[in-house]
Amino acid sequence: MIATPAYAAESAKAPLGPFSIQRREPGPRDVLIEILYCGVCHSDIHQARGEWGDAMFPMVPGHEIVGRVAKVGAEVQRWQVGDTVGVGCFVDSCRHCEACEAGEEQYCHEGLTATYNARERGTQAPTYGGYSRRITVDQDYVLRVPEGIPLERAAPLLCAGITTYSPLKHFGLKPGDALAVVGLGGLGHMAVKIGAAMGARVTVLSHSPGKQEDALALGASEFIATRDPAVFSEHAGRFDMILDTVSAAHDYNAYLGLLRRDGTMVLVGVPEPGVLAAPALIFQRKRLTGSLIGGIRETQEMLDFCAAHRVAADVEVIKIADINAAYERMLSSDVRYRFVIDIASLAQG
Ligand code: NAP
Ligand code: ZN
Ligand code: ZN
Repeated sequence: MIATPAYAAESAKAPLGPFSIQRREPGPRDVLIEILYCGVCHSDIHQARGEWGDAMFPMVPGHEIVGRVAKVGAEVQRWQVGDTVGVGCFVDSCRHCEACEAGEEQYCHEGLTATYNARERGTQAPTYGGYSRRITVDQDYVLRVPEGIPLERAAPLLCAGITTYSPLKHFGLKPGDALAVVGLGGLGHMAVKIGAAMGARVTVLSHSPGKQEDALALGASEFIATRDPAVFSEHAGRFDMILDTVSAAHDYNAYLGLLRRDGTMVLVGVPEPGVLAAPALIFQRKRLTGSLIGGIRETQEMLDFCAAHRVAADVEVIKIADINAAYERMLSSDVRYRFVIDIASLAQG
Protein backbone atom coordinates (compact mmCIF):
# COMPACT_ATOMS: atom_id res chain seq x y z
CA MET A 1 0.00 0.00 0.00
CA ILE A 2 1.06 3.58 -0.62
CA ALA A 3 0.51 6.07 2.22
CA THR A 4 -1.03 9.20 0.70
CA PRO A 5 -1.80 12.61 2.25
CA ALA A 6 -5.42 13.69 1.76
CA TYR A 7 -8.16 15.94 3.12
CA ALA A 8 -11.25 14.32 4.59
CA ALA A 9 -14.56 14.99 6.32
CA GLU A 10 -14.71 12.81 9.43
CA SER A 11 -18.48 13.25 9.76
CA ALA A 12 -21.37 15.10 8.11
CA LYS A 13 -21.03 17.93 10.61
CA ALA A 14 -17.23 18.26 10.61
CA PRO A 15 -15.19 20.60 8.40
CA LEU A 16 -12.64 18.92 6.16
CA GLY A 17 -9.09 18.52 7.52
CA PRO A 18 -5.79 16.68 6.93
CA PHE A 19 -6.02 12.90 6.77
CA SER A 20 -3.89 10.00 5.54
CA ILE A 21 -5.15 7.24 3.23
CA GLN A 22 -3.65 4.13 1.65
CA ARG A 23 -3.69 3.69 -2.12
CA ARG A 24 -3.29 0.21 -3.57
CA GLU A 25 -0.04 -0.64 -5.36
CA PRO A 26 -0.91 -0.67 -9.06
CA GLY A 27 -2.03 -4.15 -10.18
CA PRO A 28 -1.31 -5.43 -13.72
CA ARG A 29 -4.08 -3.28 -15.27
CA ASP A 30 -3.76 -0.25 -12.98
CA VAL A 31 -2.27 3.20 -13.37
CA LEU A 32 -0.85 5.23 -10.46
CA ILE A 33 -1.54 8.93 -10.95
CA GLU A 34 0.14 11.84 -9.12
CA ILE A 35 -2.70 14.34 -8.79
CA LEU A 36 -1.99 17.96 -9.79
CA TYR A 37 -5.44 19.59 -9.63
CA CYS A 38 -8.88 18.63 -8.38
CA GLY A 39 -12.04 20.62 -9.09
CA VAL A 40 -14.64 21.22 -6.37
CA CYS A 41 -18.13 20.06 -7.39
CA HIS A 42 -21.31 20.89 -5.49
CA SER A 43 -21.82 17.11 -5.23
CA ASP A 44 -18.75 17.10 -2.94
CA ILE A 45 -20.68 19.35 -0.55
CA HIS A 46 -23.93 17.34 -0.79
CA GLN A 47 -21.99 14.15 -0.02
CA ALA A 48 -19.52 15.43 2.61
CA ARG A 49 -22.52 16.84 4.50
CA GLY A 50 -24.49 13.60 4.23
CA GLU A 51 -27.31 15.19 2.22
CA TRP A 52 -27.76 12.16 -0.05
CA GLY A 53 -28.19 9.71 2.83
CA ASP A 54 -25.50 7.19 1.88
CA ALA A 55 -22.38 8.87 3.21
CA MET A 56 -19.42 6.80 4.45
CA PHE A 57 -16.94 8.55 6.72
CA PRO A 58 -14.17 9.46 6.76
CA MET A 59 -14.82 10.79 3.24
CA VAL A 60 -12.21 12.18 0.85
CA PRO A 61 -14.24 13.97 -1.87
CA GLY A 62 -13.10 15.02 -5.33
CA HIS A 63 -14.00 13.69 -8.79
CA GLU A 64 -12.54 16.26 -11.17
CA ILE A 65 -8.99 14.95 -11.17
CA VAL A 66 -6.09 15.85 -13.44
CA GLY A 67 -2.60 14.45 -12.91
CA ARG A 68 0.41 12.66 -14.36
CA VAL A 69 0.93 8.93 -14.69
CA ALA A 70 3.65 7.89 -12.23
CA LYS A 71 3.58 4.10 -12.62
CA VAL A 72 1.78 1.55 -14.78
CA GLY A 73 1.02 -2.17 -14.25
CA ALA A 74 2.64 -4.90 -16.38
CA GLU A 75 -0.37 -5.30 -18.75
CA VAL A 76 -1.08 -1.61 -19.26
CA GLN A 77 -0.69 -0.66 -22.93
CA ARG A 78 -2.60 2.59 -23.26
CA TRP A 79 -0.76 4.72 -20.73
CA GLN A 80 2.85 5.63 -20.12
CA VAL A 81 4.67 7.25 -17.24
CA GLY A 82 4.43 11.02 -17.72
CA ASP A 83 1.08 11.05 -19.58
CA THR A 84 -1.33 13.82 -18.56
CA VAL A 85 -4.57 12.13 -17.59
CA GLY A 86 -7.93 12.70 -15.95
CA VAL A 87 -10.25 10.76 -13.69
CA GLY A 88 -13.92 11.67 -13.35
CA CYS A 89 -16.83 10.53 -11.20
CA PHE A 90 -16.32 6.77 -11.38
CA VAL A 91 -13.36 4.40 -11.33
CA ASP A 92 -15.00 1.07 -12.22
CA SER A 93 -18.25 -0.63 -13.30
CA CYS A 94 -19.33 -4.23 -14.03
CA ARG A 95 -18.17 -4.08 -17.70
CA HIS A 96 -20.66 -6.69 -18.94
CA CYS A 97 -24.19 -5.31 -18.48
CA GLU A 98 -26.11 -3.75 -21.35
CA ALA A 99 -25.22 -0.21 -20.21
CA CYS A 100 -21.50 -0.94 -19.82
CA GLU A 101 -21.42 -2.65 -23.23
CA ALA A 102 -23.10 0.42 -24.73
CA GLY A 103 -20.33 2.61 -23.26
CA GLU A 104 -22.78 4.17 -20.78
CA GLU A 105 -21.00 2.90 -17.69
CA GLN A 106 -22.57 5.66 -15.60
CA TYR A 107 -25.83 3.68 -15.85
CA CYS A 108 -24.22 0.30 -15.00
CA HIS A 109 -26.95 -2.10 -13.90
CA GLU A 110 -24.78 -3.29 -11.02
CA GLY A 111 -24.04 0.30 -10.02
CA LEU A 112 -20.95 2.28 -10.99
CA THR A 113 -18.05 2.43 -8.54
CA ALA A 114 -17.91 6.10 -7.62
CA THR A 115 -14.51 7.75 -7.30
CA TYR A 116 -15.26 8.39 -3.62
CA ASN A 117 -17.89 7.38 -1.09
CA ALA A 118 -18.16 3.89 -2.59
CA ARG A 119 -16.52 0.48 -2.24
CA GLU A 120 -14.08 -1.06 -4.67
CA ARG A 121 -15.46 -4.07 -6.56
CA GLY A 122 -13.75 -7.17 -5.15
CA THR A 123 -11.85 -5.87 -2.12
CA GLN A 124 -14.77 -3.73 -0.82
CA ALA A 125 -12.19 -1.19 0.36
CA PRO A 126 -13.60 2.36 0.51
CA THR A 127 -12.85 4.59 -2.47
CA TYR A 128 -11.30 8.00 -1.81
CA GLY A 129 -11.37 10.94 -4.20
CA GLY A 130 -9.10 13.59 -5.57
CA TYR A 131 -8.51 15.78 -2.51
CA SER A 132 -5.33 13.71 -2.21
CA ARG A 133 -1.81 13.42 -3.60
CA ARG A 134 -2.30 10.31 -5.74
CA ILE A 135 -4.81 7.71 -6.88
CA THR A 136 -4.64 4.19 -8.36
CA VAL A 137 -7.18 3.57 -11.15
CA ASP A 138 -7.89 0.76 -13.62
CA GLN A 139 -6.53 1.77 -17.04
CA ASP A 140 -9.98 1.65 -18.68
CA TYR A 141 -11.38 4.39 -16.44
CA VAL A 142 -8.64 6.93 -17.19
CA LEU A 143 -9.05 9.81 -19.69
CA ARG A 144 -6.47 11.53 -21.86
CA VAL A 145 -6.26 15.28 -21.26
CA PRO A 146 -5.67 16.84 -24.68
CA GLU A 147 -2.87 19.34 -25.17
CA GLY A 148 -3.79 22.98 -25.23
CA ILE A 149 -6.05 23.14 -22.17
CA PRO A 150 -4.31 24.54 -19.05
CA LEU A 151 -4.50 21.69 -16.54
CA GLU A 152 -6.27 23.61 -13.79
CA ARG A 153 -8.92 24.63 -16.32
CA ALA A 154 -9.24 21.07 -17.61
CA ALA A 155 -9.99 19.46 -14.24
CA PRO A 156 -13.64 20.68 -14.03
CA LEU A 157 -14.38 19.15 -17.42
CA LEU A 158 -14.21 15.71 -15.78
CA CYS A 159 -17.56 16.31 -14.06
CA ALA A 160 -19.04 19.74 -14.87
CA GLY A 161 -17.99 19.41 -18.52
CA ILE A 162 -19.33 15.93 -19.21
CA THR A 163 -22.49 16.43 -17.12
CA THR A 164 -23.53 19.30 -19.39
CA TYR A 165 -22.10 18.02 -22.71
CA SER A 166 -23.82 14.63 -22.49
CA PRO A 167 -27.48 15.77 -22.21
CA LEU A 168 -27.08 18.60 -24.73
CA LYS A 169 -25.88 16.03 -27.24
CA HIS A 170 -28.17 13.17 -26.24
CA PHE A 171 -31.33 15.26 -26.36
CA GLY A 172 -30.38 16.67 -29.74
CA LEU A 173 -29.43 20.32 -29.26
CA LYS A 174 -29.04 21.81 -32.74
CA PRO A 175 -27.32 24.95 -34.06
CA GLY A 176 -29.73 27.85 -33.73
CA ASP A 177 -31.80 26.23 -30.96
CA ALA A 178 -32.83 28.38 -28.02
CA LEU A 179 -31.16 26.86 -24.93
CA ALA A 180 -31.82 28.13 -21.40
CA VAL A 181 -29.29 27.31 -18.70
CA VAL A 182 -30.69 27.62 -15.18
CA GLY A 183 -28.08 28.44 -12.50
CA LEU A 184 -24.70 29.95 -13.34
CA GLY A 185 -22.30 27.94 -11.17
CA GLY A 186 -19.77 25.26 -12.07
CA LEU A 187 -22.10 23.16 -14.24
CA GLY A 188 -24.00 26.17 -15.53
CA HIS A 189 -20.98 28.04 -16.83
CA MET A 190 -19.79 24.93 -18.66
CA ALA A 191 -23.28 24.50 -20.15
CA VAL A 192 -23.12 28.06 -21.49
CA LYS A 193 -19.71 27.51 -23.09
CA ILE A 194 -20.49 24.07 -24.52
CA GLY A 195 -24.00 25.04 -25.66
CA ALA A 196 -22.60 28.08 -27.47
CA ALA A 197 -19.83 25.93 -29.02
CA MET A 198 -22.56 23.59 -30.32
CA GLY A 199 -24.16 26.59 -32.03
CA ALA A 200 -27.14 27.20 -29.75
CA ARG A 201 -28.40 30.62 -28.71
CA VAL A 202 -27.89 30.48 -24.96
CA THR A 203 -29.88 32.34 -22.32
CA VAL A 204 -28.85 32.25 -18.66
CA LEU A 205 -31.55 32.22 -15.99
CA SER A 206 -30.05 33.17 -12.66
CA HIS A 207 -31.25 34.12 -9.20
CA SER A 208 -28.09 36.26 -8.80
CA PRO A 209 -28.69 39.55 -10.63
CA GLY A 210 -24.95 40.39 -10.47
CA LYS A 211 -23.95 37.66 -12.93
CA GLN A 212 -25.28 39.30 -16.12
CA GLU A 213 -21.96 40.62 -17.40
CA ASP A 214 -20.24 37.29 -16.76
CA ALA A 215 -23.01 35.34 -18.50
CA LEU A 216 -22.58 37.38 -21.67
CA ALA A 217 -18.78 37.11 -21.51
CA LEU A 218 -19.06 33.31 -21.17
CA GLY A 219 -20.99 33.12 -24.45
CA ALA A 220 -24.66 33.66 -23.55
CA SER A 221 -26.63 36.02 -25.76
CA GLU A 222 -29.13 36.91 -23.05
CA PHE A 223 -29.50 37.00 -19.26
CA ILE A 224 -32.76 36.74 -17.32
CA ALA A 225 -32.84 37.55 -13.59
CA THR A 226 -35.39 35.15 -12.06
CA ARG A 227 -35.89 37.17 -8.86
CA ASP A 228 -38.67 39.03 -10.72
CA PRO A 229 -41.55 36.54 -11.08
CA ALA A 230 -42.90 38.48 -14.07
CA VAL A 231 -40.11 37.04 -16.25
CA PHE A 232 -41.85 33.64 -16.21
CA SER A 233 -44.86 35.01 -18.10
CA GLU A 234 -42.80 37.38 -20.27
CA HIS A 235 -40.66 34.51 -21.59
CA ALA A 236 -43.29 31.72 -21.61
CA GLY A 237 -42.97 29.13 -24.43
CA ARG A 238 -39.63 30.38 -25.75
CA PHE A 239 -37.04 27.66 -25.30
CA ASP A 240 -36.30 24.43 -27.18
CA MET A 241 -34.31 23.06 -24.28
CA ILE A 242 -33.70 23.96 -20.64
CA LEU A 243 -30.75 22.57 -18.69
CA ASP A 244 -31.40 22.96 -14.96
CA THR A 245 -28.18 22.91 -12.90
CA VAL A 246 -29.56 24.38 -9.67
CA SER A 247 -28.37 22.75 -6.44
CA ALA A 248 -31.14 24.10 -4.14
CA ALA A 249 -34.92 23.61 -4.11
CA HIS A 250 -36.85 25.65 -6.70
CA ASP A 251 -40.15 25.39 -8.59
CA TYR A 252 -39.74 23.15 -11.65
CA ASN A 253 -43.26 24.01 -12.82
CA ALA A 254 -42.36 27.66 -13.29
CA TYR A 255 -39.37 26.78 -15.50
CA LEU A 256 -41.39 24.24 -17.53
CA GLY A 257 -43.63 27.14 -18.54
CA LEU A 258 -40.69 28.58 -20.48
CA LEU A 259 -40.50 25.59 -22.87
CA ARG A 260 -42.09 25.62 -26.31
CA ARG A 261 -44.31 22.76 -27.54
CA ASP A 262 -42.37 19.46 -27.45
CA GLY A 263 -39.50 21.18 -25.67
CA THR A 264 -37.25 19.30 -23.26
CA MET A 265 -36.17 20.26 -19.76
CA VAL A 266 -33.22 18.26 -18.42
CA LEU A 267 -32.47 18.13 -14.69
CA VAL A 268 -28.84 17.71 -13.73
CA GLY A 269 -28.86 19.57 -10.39
CA VAL A 270 -29.84 17.44 -7.40
CA PRO A 271 -31.72 19.56 -4.83
CA GLU A 272 -34.19 18.26 -2.26
CA PRO A 273 -37.28 16.66 -3.88
CA GLY A 274 -39.77 19.11 -5.40
CA VAL A 275 -43.41 18.99 -6.50
CA LEU A 276 -44.38 18.50 -10.13
CA ALA A 277 -47.86 19.35 -11.42
CA ALA A 278 -48.99 17.26 -14.42
CA PRO A 279 -50.45 20.23 -16.35
CA ALA A 280 -46.96 21.75 -16.52
CA LEU A 281 -46.14 18.91 -18.97
CA ILE A 282 -49.53 18.09 -20.48
CA PHE A 283 -50.20 21.42 -22.14
CA GLN A 284 -47.76 21.75 -25.04
CA ARG A 285 -46.57 18.10 -24.66
CA LYS A 286 -43.35 18.94 -22.82
CA ARG A 287 -40.66 16.53 -21.68
CA LEU A 288 -38.98 16.52 -18.29
CA THR A 289 -35.95 14.27 -17.99
CA GLY A 290 -32.63 13.89 -16.19
CA SER A 291 -29.05 12.96 -16.98
CA LEU A 292 -26.10 11.57 -15.03
CA ILE A 293 -22.52 12.56 -15.99
CA GLY A 294 -21.47 10.54 -19.09
CA GLY A 295 -19.62 7.34 -20.07
CA ILE A 296 -15.87 7.00 -20.56
CA ARG A 297 -16.03 7.15 -24.37
CA GLU A 298 -18.23 10.23 -24.32
CA THR A 299 -16.06 11.90 -21.68
CA GLN A 300 -13.05 11.51 -23.98
CA GLU A 301 -15.14 12.89 -26.86
CA MET A 302 -16.10 15.89 -24.68
CA LEU A 303 -12.45 16.57 -23.74
CA ASP A 304 -11.46 16.51 -27.42
CA PHE A 305 -14.45 18.71 -28.32
CA CYS A 306 -13.40 21.26 -25.67
CA ALA A 307 -9.80 21.28 -26.91
CA ALA A 308 -10.98 21.75 -30.52
CA HIS A 309 -13.37 24.58 -29.57
CA ARG A 310 -11.01 26.20 -27.06
CA VAL A 311 -13.44 25.60 -24.23
CA ALA A 312 -12.17 25.32 -20.65
CA ALA A 313 -13.51 26.10 -17.19
CA ASP A 314 -13.15 29.55 -15.61
CA VAL A 315 -11.46 28.71 -12.33
CA GLU A 316 -10.31 30.12 -9.03
CA VAL A 317 -7.33 28.06 -7.88
CA ILE A 318 -7.27 27.53 -4.12
CA LYS A 319 -5.06 25.88 -1.54
CA ILE A 320 -6.46 22.79 0.15
CA ALA A 321 -6.63 24.67 3.48
CA ASP A 322 -9.21 27.00 1.90
CA ILE A 323 -11.65 24.19 1.02
CA ASN A 324 -14.13 24.82 3.85
CA ALA A 325 -14.34 28.52 2.96
CA ALA A 326 -14.82 27.56 -0.69
CA TYR A 327 -17.77 25.33 0.26
CA GLU A 328 -19.41 28.27 2.08
CA ARG A 329 -18.90 30.52 -0.92
CA MET A 330 -20.47 27.92 -3.23
CA LEU A 331 -23.47 27.64 -0.92
CA SER A 332 -24.02 31.37 -1.31
CA SER A 333 -23.66 31.10 -5.15
CA ASP A 334 -20.37 33.01 -4.95
CA VAL A 335 -18.16 30.96 -7.24
CA ARG A 336 -16.72 32.26 -10.53
CA TYR A 337 -17.04 29.63 -11.75
CA ARG A 338 -15.22 26.61 -10.37
CA PHE A 339 -12.88 26.28 -7.42
CA VAL A 340 -9.92 24.05 -8.26
CA ILE A 341 -7.54 22.78 -5.60
CA ASP A 342 -3.82 23.04 -6.30
CA ILE A 343 -2.83 19.65 -4.90
CA ALA A 344 0.76 20.88 -4.39
CA SER A 345 -0.71 22.70 -1.35
CA LEU A 346 -1.32 19.32 0.35
CA ALA A 347 1.43 17.97 2.60
CA GLN A 348 4.18 16.10 0.76
CA GLY A 349 4.43 12.35 1.22
P1 NAP B 1 -22.59 25.34 -7.98
O1 NAP B 1 -21.32 25.65 -8.68
O2 NAP B 1 -22.71 25.59 -6.53
O3 NAP B 1 -23.77 26.09 -8.79
C1 NAP B 1 -25.12 25.95 -8.45
C2 NAP B 1 -25.86 27.19 -8.93
O4 NAP B 1 -27.24 27.01 -8.63
C3 NAP B 1 -25.50 28.46 -8.19
O5 NAP B 1 -24.34 29.08 -8.66
C4 NAP B 1 -26.73 29.31 -8.42
O6 NAP B 1 -26.67 29.95 -9.69
C5 NAP B 1 -27.85 28.28 -8.45
N1 NAP B 1 -28.57 28.30 -7.17
C6 NAP B 1 -28.08 28.01 -5.95
N2 NAP B 1 -29.02 28.15 -5.01
C7 NAP B 1 -30.14 28.54 -5.64
C8 NAP B 1 -31.46 28.85 -5.22
N3 NAP B 1 -31.80 28.78 -3.91
N4 NAP B 1 -32.38 29.21 -6.15
C9 NAP B 1 -32.04 29.27 -7.44
N5 NAP B 1 -30.78 29.00 -7.90
C10 NAP B 1 -29.86 28.64 -7.01
O7 NAP B 1 -22.96 23.78 -8.17
P2 NAP B 1 -22.50 22.75 -9.33
O8 NAP B 1 -21.23 22.12 -8.96
O9 NAP B 1 -22.67 23.40 -10.62
O10 NAP B 1 -23.63 21.61 -9.13
C11 NAP B 1 -25.00 21.90 -9.34
C12 NAP B 1 -25.86 20.71 -8.99
O11 NAP B 1 -25.61 19.66 -9.95
C13 NAP B 1 -25.59 20.09 -7.64
O12 NAP B 1 -26.84 19.69 -7.07
C14 NAP B 1 -24.75 18.87 -7.96
O13 NAP B 1 -24.83 17.84 -7.00
C15 NAP B 1 -25.38 18.45 -9.24
N6 NAP B 1 -24.55 17.58 -10.11
C16 NAP B 1 -25.18 16.65 -10.85
C17 NAP B 1 -24.47 15.86 -11.74
C18 NAP B 1 -25.18 14.86 -12.60
O14 NAP B 1 -24.53 13.96 -13.13
N7 NAP B 1 -26.46 14.99 -12.81
C19 NAP B 1 -23.08 16.01 -11.83
C20 NAP B 1 -22.47 17.00 -11.07
C21 NAP B 1 -23.21 17.79 -10.22
P3 NAP B 1 -27.24 31.46 -9.87
O15 NAP B 1 -26.50 32.27 -8.87
O16 NAP B 1 -26.91 31.79 -11.28
O17 NAP B 1 -28.73 31.40 -9.62
ZN1 ZN C 1 -19.46 16.43 -9.81
ZN1 ZN D 1 -22.37 -2.59 -15.91
